[in-house]
Amino acid sequence: MIETSLSLYLHIPFCKHRCAYCDFNTYTSLLDLREVYADALVAEMAQVAGDARRPVHTIFFGGGTPSLMSPAALGRILDGVRTHFALAPDAEVTMEANPGTVDLEYLTAVSQTGINRLSFGVQSVVPSELALLEREHDFATVVEAVQMARQVGLDNFNLDLIYGVPGQTLASWAQSVRTVLDLDPTHLSLYCLTIEPGTPMQRWLLNGRIQPPDPDLAADQYELACTLLAEHGYDHYEISNWAKPGRECEHNLTYWRNGAYLGLGAGAHGHAAGVRYQIVKQPRVYLRRLQESSAPGYPLSTAVAASHPVNRTEAISDTMMTQLRLLNEGLDLAAFQAQFGQSVAEIYNGTLDQLVDWGLVGVENGRLHLTQKGWFLSNQVFYRFMLDEA
Ligand code: SF4
Repeated sequence: MIETSLSLYLHIPFCKHRCAYCDFNTYTSLLDLREVYADALVAEMAQVAGDARRPVHTIFFGGGTPSLMSPAALGRILDGVRTHFALAPDAEVTMEANPGTVDLEYLTAVSQTGINRLSFGVQSVVPSELALLEREHDFATVVEAVQMARQVGLDNFNLDLIYGVPGQTLASWAQSVRTVLDLDPTHLSLYCLTIEPGTPMQRWLLNGRIQPPDPDLAADQYELACTLLAEHGYDHYEISNWAKPGRECEHNLTYWRNGAYLGLGAGAHGHAAGVRYQIVKQPRVYLRRLQESSAPGYPLSTAVAASHPVNRTEAISDTMMTQLRLLNEGLDLAAFQAQFGQSVAEIYNGTLDQLVDWGLVGVENGRLHLTQKGWFLSNQVFYRFMLDEA
C-alpha cells in the first residue's frame, strides 16, 4: 500500500432519532456528549499522529448525523487536523448532513470552518417511502437545504437515494431519481436497501408488515438509474456512485483504490501502515479509553478495539474487491504485479478465465474491470476473488 497522503474518516455517532433500516454506530440518547466528543477526536489525533504531521488530502465527517455538531465543535476538530497533520490547501472536506438539521446560519458557519463538500441523506422524494424508512424530513426540506447550501457557496454536494425499498415501484423510483436530478447535484450515491438484523425493518419483515424486497425489481431500478444518469451527463465511476466530470468523491476513491486512511471516533475503521483496525464503538467507552496514557503508536490510539496486520493474502483480496468497484479505472494489472510479484492471471488462473468467459470482467488498456453485465453481479465476482486465508 502506497502512503503518499492520508484520508481521515471522522465518525460522529449521534442522531436525534433512529431510522427504521439503520444499523450504523449511532446513539440517540448521547447528544449531551457532542462537545466533549469533539475534543476527544482531537486528543485521538494527537495520540495517533505523534510529531510526524503526515500529509492529508481528504477528510470525511460521517455518522450518525455530523450536522448535529455545532460549527464551533467542527471548527475545533478541523483545527486539530491542521495541528497534527499537514492538511493540503485544496483538501476535500466532506460533511454528511440530514436535510432537516441545517439552516442558513448553520451552513454559513460550517462553510467558514473549511468544510467544502456536503452529502445529504435524501433517500426518496416519495412521502410514503420516507415514512416507511422513518426519515424525519420531507422533500421540501431537501430543496430548502440545497438552496441554502448553494447560497453560502457549498455547491459541491452529494445526494443519497435508496432503491429496493418495500412498496417502492419502478415508477416511484424514477420519480425520485428525476426529481433529485432537477436539483443538479455534483454527485449521486444510489444504494440498494439491505434489511439488517436487529432493525425495526427486519422485525416488520418477520411479522409480515412488509414484503421482502424483490431483487429483480431492484435490478430494474438500478438499470433505470444508470440510463437516466448517463442521459444527464453523470459519469458512473463506481458501482453505486455517479459524478459530474471532475466531481468524484476523492475521499471514497481512497477506499476504492485500497489506499491509506485513518478512522477516528467511536466505531471507526482504519487502514494504514499495513494495519487494519477498529475503534471501540460505545462513545462513553471511547471517551474513557482516550484518557489512558500509553498509545500503541501510529496508526493506533488507546481507543482501539481490534487491529491486525494485513498479510499478503488479505491485501490481494482487498485490492481486487476495492479496485474493481471503480468501473472506468478498474485494476491496473502491471501495478498489481509490481506490488505482489505475481500477475492476476497467475494468482487467479482458472477463476479469471471463467469470469472473462461469462462476460463479467474484461481487460482493456492493461486494466481489469467489471463489464456492464458484471455491474449487476459484482458481489458474485468479488466472492470469487476472495482468497482463503489458510
Ligand atoms: S440519520 Fe443515518 S445514521 Fe442516523 S439513524 Fe438515520 S440512517 Fe442511521
